[in-house]
Amino acid sequence: AGQHSLSFKCGRVEGMELQKEEASVKPVFDPHNIEPELLQEISYDALVWCSLHGLVVGDRNSQRSGKVPGVGMVHAPVSLLPMSFPSSHWKQACEVAPIFNELVDRVSLDGKFLQESLSRTKKVDAFTSRLLDIHSKMLEMNKKEDIRLGLHRSDYMLDEQTKLLLQIELNTISSSFPGLSCLVSELHRMLLHQFREQLSLDPQRIPKNDAVNGFAEALAKAWSEYNNPRAVIMVVVQPEERNMYDQHWLSTVLKERHHVRTIRKTLAEINAGGELLPDGKLLVAGEAVAVIYFRAGYTPTDYPSELEWRARLLMEQSSAIKCPSISYHLAGTKKIQQELAKPNVLERFLDNKDDVAKVRRCFAGLWSLDDSKIIKDAIERPELYVMKPQREGGGNNIYDDDVKENLLRLQQSGNEEEAAYILMQRIFPAVSPAVLLRDGITYKDQSVSELGVYGAYLRNKTNVIINDHCGYLMRTKVSSSNEGGVAAGFAVLDSIYLV
Ligand code: ADP
Ligand code: MG
Ligand code: MG
Repeated sequence: AGQHSLSFKCGRVEGMELQKEEASVKPVFDPHNIEPELLQEISYDALVWCSLHGLVVGDRNSQRSGKVPGVGMVHAPVSLLPMSFPSSHWKQACEVAPIFNELVDRVSLDGKFLQESLSRTKKVDAFTSRLLDIHSKMLEMNKKEDIRLGLHRSDYMLDEQTKLLLQIELNTISSSFPGLSCLVSELHRMLLHQFREQLSLDPQRIPKNDAVNGFAEALAKAWSEYNNPRAVIMVVVQPEERNMYDQHWLSTVLKERHHVRTIRKTLAEINAGGELLPDGKLLVAGEAVAVIYFRAGYTPTDYPSELEWRARLLMEQSSAIKCPSISYHLAGTKKIQQELAKPNVLERFLDNKDDVAKVRRCFAGLWSLDDSKIIKDAIERPELYVMKPQREGGGNNIYDDDVKENLLRLQQSGNEEEAAYILMQRIFPAVSPAVLLRDGITYKDQSVSELGVYGAYLRNKTNVIINDHCGYLMRTKVSSSNEGGVAAGFAVLDSIYLV
C-alpha cells in the first residue's frame, strides 16, 4: 500500500490478541490517518459521484432551492467512508423492526390507551392537544381504518459501556432519508471498490440498502389495495423543502417501477383544493387520492393557521389510506414510548413472549416527570439524562445543565407543564474518528453515530401484506454536538461497515 497505507486499529486486521468484544466496537481503521493527497482524491470522486447520482439537497445559500427543483443543489452532507458497526447489533436492529411495526399497529387500535397516556400532556401541550382532538373525533365517528400503512424508522445508539443497542425513538411520521440513504451506501461501496488497494476495505461489508424500494413498494401495494387505478398518491409537503430530492426519489421509483403517479401538496393547498365526497373518498384539485404520504404535518410550524388543521382533519375523515393515520402518529410520540417502557405494558400489545423480550432489550431508561426519585437524581446528575418534549424533527431536546435548570423551574412553578416532557437515560455511544464532507469541504472530527432501521407495514383487515425491515440510515455527528440534525448542519449521512 506504500505511502497510502493506513494504520489499522482493528483486531480483525492487526491484533488477533484483542478481545472479540473490544474489536467489535473499535473503528476498522482510522480515516484521520489517510494521507492528504489520497483524502483529496477520494473526496473529489465522492463529490462527483454525489452530483451525478442525485445524492443532493437544496443549498441553503440559494434562495429558491427549497421551492424549485433543479435550482441551487449541493451534495448531501456525507461521511467520506462508512462507519464500522457490529454485525450482531445490525442483525438485532433488523430483527426487531417487524415487531415494532406490529406494536405500533396494535397500540394504534387502543384509542383509550392513547388518549389516557397523553391526557396530562394534552393540558399543557397545544400541538399534542390538537392531534388528540382529531383522534377523539375519529373515535366518536367510530372511524375504522381497514387498510393500514406504516413507514417507520426506529433509531438506535450503541451504548459503549453496556454494549447495548438502545432505541432513541421510533418515528411513525415523515421518516426521512429513505431515498438518499440508499445512495450513501452505494457511494461508499463505489469508493471502497475504487480505492481498495489503498484502503484495504471490503465493499461487500456494506449491507445492501433497499430503503427507497421497500418504501415505494409498500406505498404501491397500499395504492393497489385501495383499488382505484385512476387515483394518485399524495405527498404532503412543506411549502419549502430543501430535502425534496429524498422525496422525489420515492416518487420516481413509484412512477418508473410501479407506474403510480404522485402529486405534491402543502396542507394549505389541500385545504383549498380538498373535497370529501359523501362516500368518504378524498379529491384534491380534482384528483382522487388513494394514499396520503406525510412528509409534513409533524411539527407545530406546519400549522400556521386553522386552515392547515382543517386540511389534516379532512384527510383523516376520508377513506384514503393515511401514512400515518392520526393513531399511528400518536403511537410514535415520545410519551407513548415512555408508557410502553413501563412494566407489563408491552404484554398488553404483543402476544409473543420472545417478541416482548426482544423489544424490551432495546429500551433505555424512560420516565415521566412525576417520578420524584428520578427528578432528584436528574437534578443532581443532569448529564446522565435527556429531557424531551413531544416534538419531532430534531433540535427540541434539553441536555446537561439545562436539564437541571428546567427541572428546578418546573418544580417551583408547580403547574402541570412537566407533563409536556419525558426524561430519558442518556446514551453514550463510542467516539470514533470520521471525515465529514460538507459543502465540498472535508472535516476531520471525532464523531458518534445513530443507526436507523426502516420498517414497512401494510395490512388490509386481518391480512398482513407487508411486515419487514427495509434498509437503513446511519447518521454520524460530531461528538461535541448534543443533537445531530442532518438538515440542522451537525450530522451527515453515513452507511455501515459490518465488523
Ligand atoms: P427527534 O424526533 O426530534 O428526532 P430524538 O429523540 O431522535 O428526537 O432526538 C434527537 C437527537 O437527540 C437524536 O438524533 C440523538 O442525536 C439525540 N438523543 C436523543 N435521545 C438521546 C439519548 N437518550 N441519549 C443520547 N442522545 C440522544
Ligand atoms: Mg423523531
Ligand atoms: Mg430522531
